[in-house]
Amino acid sequence: MDARARALTRPDGDGCYLELRDDRCAALARDAGRGRLLCSIYEMRPDCCRALVPDSGECLRQIAEKAVRARAAIGLASL
Ligand code: SF4
Repeated sequence: MDARARALTRPDGDGCYLELRDDRCAALARDAGRGRLLCSIYEMRPDCCRALVPDSGECLRQIAEKAVRARAAIGLASL
């Protein structure tokens, strides 16, 4: 884990958890140039994030559940 990822995590007992900010993962960042949300620690994202297969049913379900909240947290309108 590099310094960027370490700064976004909190140890808790035997585990280590990503911090939440404004009700979303603290690693989620806005790419203003492209108007998109990106993972700022993509190369070292945790295993649970790696396990989510892009465009799979679970991925689409997570997007449907969390996109509205994440977009609102950074001032973007719902899709
Ligand atoms: S991929 Fe994981 S670490 Fe990256 S923004 Fe999403 S939830 Fe956070």
